[in-house]
Amino acid sequence: MVSKVSQKSFFIKTFGCQMNVYDSDKMKDIFIANGLKEETEFKSADYVVLNTCHIREKATEKTFSDLGKINKKGKQDQKIIVAGCVAQAEGELIQKRAPYVDLVIGPQSIHALDRFLKKSEFENTSITEFDVIEKFDTLNQFKKNHSQKSAFVTIQEGCDKFCHFCVVPYTRGAEFSRTLDDIANEIRSLVDLGVVEFSLLGQNVNAYHGHNTLGQSQSLADLINHISLINGVERITYSTSHPINMTDDLINLHGSNSKLMPYLHLPVQSGSDHVLKLMNRKHTRDFYFDIIERVRKVKPDIALSSDFIIGFPGETDQDFEDTLDLIKRVKYMNSYSFKYSPRPGTPAADKELIDDRILDERLNRLQDLINQQQMEYNQQFVKKTVQVLINGAGKHDGQVKGKSEFNQSVAIEGTQEIIGKIIPVEITNVYRHSLVGKQATL
Ligand code: SAM
Ligand code: SF4
Repeated sequence: MVSKVSQKSFFIKTFGCQMNVYDSDKMKDIFIANGLKEETEFKSADYVVLNTCHIREKATEKTFSDLGKINKKGKQDQKIIVAGCVAQAEGELIQKRAPYVDLVIGPQSIHALDRFLKKSEFENTSITEFDVIEKFDTLNQFKKNHSQKSAFVTIQEGCDKFCHFCVVPYTRGAEFSRTLDDIANEIRSLVDLGVVEFSLLGQNVNAYHGHNTLGQSQSLADLINHISLINGVERITYSTSHPINMTDDLINLHGSNSKLMPYLHLPVQSGSDHVLKLMNRKHTRDFYFDIIERVRKVKPDIALSSDFIIGFPGETDQDFEDTLDLIKRVKYMNSYSFKYSPRPGTPAADKELIDDRILDERLNRLQDLINQQQMEYNQQFVKKTVQVLINGAGKHDGQVKGKSEFNQSVAIEGTQEIIGKIIPVEITNVYRHSLVGKQATL
């Protein structure tokens, strides 16, 4: 039996990656199971959670600036909780810089929130254990609250790769994969709530190696095949993948499993072998080209996206030109690019930084190229028909919006009744970030 904290409310603000969105949903389940209701803004909530991101310096500073605001403007006796990767990495600093914070809780310890709500033990406590098995076992006990047609499901946590720029191995711990059954059970309960599209998440999702009921290690391809047989599962995507874990079975699955969407986010970070080596990425640009070629062989129309880090220490003008060249050769539908941000405790943290003006100039050139590719990619869709999962109301009256199988946002004229359906849409107009169309006849 769960105890009720009557009339109390909570507010959660989420920063960073999709895995944080998933963790926030799980914390929401815990609050609701304890009788709390969700608030839409922090000021009047009894509990405020900042689920934080530590991947770049700006993200960390944002946490402290938000904490200051909450402390000043929040209601009396409000409990403040800092969760996520800043909590994991900077627990002591938070307690020093923001002593009014009641609970600091690392990403692998979010399930402890339940214990704290029950005992109301909120006194400047910090929980940053790495008990991933206990995390998922405990989270499974809470009733899910999910009203959308798409859901994230974390299948794998942590990372053993130690890229020299990245804090993830330190904040999320070693690689851990959930069992096949555990994931399938979560997916079935989400299907019961009406979810049809599943994004399988992990910091290194294609390093997945969870066990089946016979104790045999299963690959991501095995898992996708397994869950695509669950009645009600219509669409599957996965993110974020590392090039060295793009195994043959996973590549081939893109050509054989119709529930696996024709979309692949495969970060390369740099197009220069020199920089890839400095970054400890463990692959070359040719290795990356080879994967792209093999994926396109089995799925010629697959939509590709990537992450890029600009100005990693040691990146020369030629290295940067190599990155632009890689982008021109691959032709992405979309990509994310970031200026390198030194992270404390990582091997590259004390390397000499490149002048910020050079970084800005490189970032602008790269983003111009990506923007141009994104527009060109979308232009090919004019007069073509895509399959759109309608997931909500559009920006304008009488409009609904959804996602194509290629992960594009699509708006059409339509009414609420078609929300949750996958319908054919003929594209009439394209923008860089979205498409507009009309329902097509079958
Ligand atoms: N596991 C994924 C991979 O291997 O590509 C990436 C996960 S990481 C959480 C998300 C993205 O943040 C990375 O792909 C990288 O581009 C960016 N990132 C990570 N550390 C960074 C840093 N120190 N500075 C700038 N961007 C960074
Ligand atoms: Fe970070 Fe990804 Fe490298 Fe792991 S593989 S250290 S998560 S960038």
